Amino acid sequence: MFDSLTDRLEDVFRKIRGQARLTEENVQTALREVRLALLEADVNFKVVKDFVERVRERAVGQDVLKSLNPGQQVVKIVHEELIEILGGQATDLDLSGSPAVIMVVGLQGSGKTTTCAKLALKLRREFKRKPYLVPADVYRPAAIDQLHKLASQLDIEAYPSTPDQNPVDICAAALAEAKRTGHDVVLLDTAGRLHIDEALMDELAAIKAGCAPGEILFVADAMTGQDAVTVAAAFNERLDITGVVLTKMDGDARGGAALSVRQVTGKPIKLVGTGEKVSDLELFYPDRAASRILGMGDILTLIEKAQTDVDAEEAAEMERKLRKAQFTLEDFRTQMRRIKKLGSLEGLLKLIPGMSQVRKQLGDVQMPEKEMARVEAIINSMTKAERDNPKLINTSRRERIAKGSGVTVLEVSQLLKNFTQMQKMMQRMMGGKGMPSMPKMPP
Ligand code: GDP
Repeated sequence: MFDSLTDRLEDVFRKIRGQARLTEENVQTALREVRLALLEADVNFKVVKDFVERVRERAVGQDVLKSLNPGQQVVKIVHEELIEILGGQATDLDLSGSPAVIMVVGLQGSGKTTTCAKLALKLRREFKRKPYLVPADVYRPAAIDQLHKLASQLDIEAYPSTPDQNPVDICAAALAEAKRTGHDVVLLDTAGRLHIDEALMDELAAIKAGCAPGEILFVADAMTGQDAVTVAAAFNERLDITGVVLTKMDGDARGGAALSVRQVTGKPIKLVGTGEKVSDLELFYPDRAASRILGMGDILTLIEKAQTDVDAEEAAEMERKLRKAQFTLEDFRTQMRRIKKLGSLEGLLKLIPGMSQVRKQLGDVQMPEKEMARVEAIINSMTKAERDNPKLINTSRRERIAKGSGVTVLEVSQLLKNFTQMQKMMQRMMGGKGMPSMPKMPP
C-alpha cells in the first residue's frame, strides 16, 4: 500500500535507529530525507512542511537526544506525528437514524458504485445490518445496471431505479421504500462527472437536503494523488462531507492522497478500497497505517485476519515457550498450519514488523508454500514425543521418518539441524529488546 515510501523511510531510520548518540545535525539530516521521501510520495507540500517542523521541534527538544535510545525516540515521534496527520483516532461510521443514510459521492470512475456494493456487504457481514442499495447515477451509462448486478450477486436488495428518473426523486422514494421494507441502512450511489461542475453539485446538495444523510462519504481514487485531495476539498466545501473513502490503494498509489487528505479537508479517511473484489474494503485505522508506513508491520490487521481465534492465553504460552527455548516442533507445526490458513505468505509477510527488509534481501523468491508442505509432512511422520524432544530421533528413527514422509534422510537431518538453530536464534531475539521477527523457515 505504501511500499516505496516505506522503503525510503526504512533506509533513513536504519541509519539512526541503533545509534547510541545522536546530534542535532544527525536529526536534521534524517528529517531532510524524510521530507524528500514524503514529497516524492506526492504528499501535499504544506502538510509535509508542518509535519517535519513538528517532528523537528519534538526531536531536538530537551531530553530526546540525551535519552538512552535517541534513534528509537525519533522514530517514535515520527510514528506519533504520522498517526496525527492520518487523523489520530479511527472514526466510526455514523449508522444512527432509522434507516441510517449513507450518501456516496465523487467523480466518475473513482469507484463509487463498487464501493457502495462493498460497503453494503461489509455492513451486512460485520455490522449485522440490513442494507438497501440505491442506484441514483442516471447519467453514466450502465451505472444503474452495474449496481443492480452487484446487488443481486451479493443478494442485497436494491431500489429499482431507471435512467429516466430524477435522482432527487429516486433517493426520496428509495428512502420511503427502505423504511417500508425494514432495511436499516440505505446507501445512495450518486452520479459523478469527469470534473467538478455546478449542476452536479446542485443535484447532490438537493439529495442531501431531501435525505439528511448521517454520512456523506467522498470516494477518491488514491492513484490520482494530489488531484484527489483537491477534488475532496471542493466537495467538502460544497457538501460538508463526513468522511473519505480512498479506493485503489492496492495499485501503485504512492500514498500522497492518504497522507494529505485529512489535513487539507479536516475530514477523516474512514475506509480504504484495496482491490476489485467485493470484499476488498477495509476500515481505516490511522495508527495501523502509520505503523505500516514505517515498516513496523501491522500486527493488529494480521491478528484480525486470523479471525481472532488465537486466544490470548495461547499467545502468552507461545511467548513463554519462545523465551525458554521450549518451542517444540509440535508448536512449529501449529504455527505453520495457522499461517497456511491465513492465505498468501507474501501478503502476510508485509504485515510483520521488520519483515519488509528481510523480504527485500530474499529478493524475488517464490514463497515456500511447497516447502511448508514438505516440512509439515516430515513433522507429521514423527511421534508426539519426538516432536516435543527431537533429541530422541536417532539414526534409525530418521530413516523411518524419511520413509514415512517421502524425503531423504538428509532432508530430515537438515530440518532438525535448522530447527535447533532457529530455536537458538529465537531465544536470542526474545531475550534481547525489540520485536520478535518471524522465524525463518528451515529449508
Ligand atoms: P464510479 O464511476 O465512481 O461508480 O466507479 P466504479 O465503481 O465503476 O469503479 C471504476 C473502476 O475502478 C472499476 O473498474 C472498479 O473495479 C475499479 N475499482 C474500484 N475500487 C477499486 C479498488 O479499491 N481497487 C482496484 N484495483 N480497483 C477498484
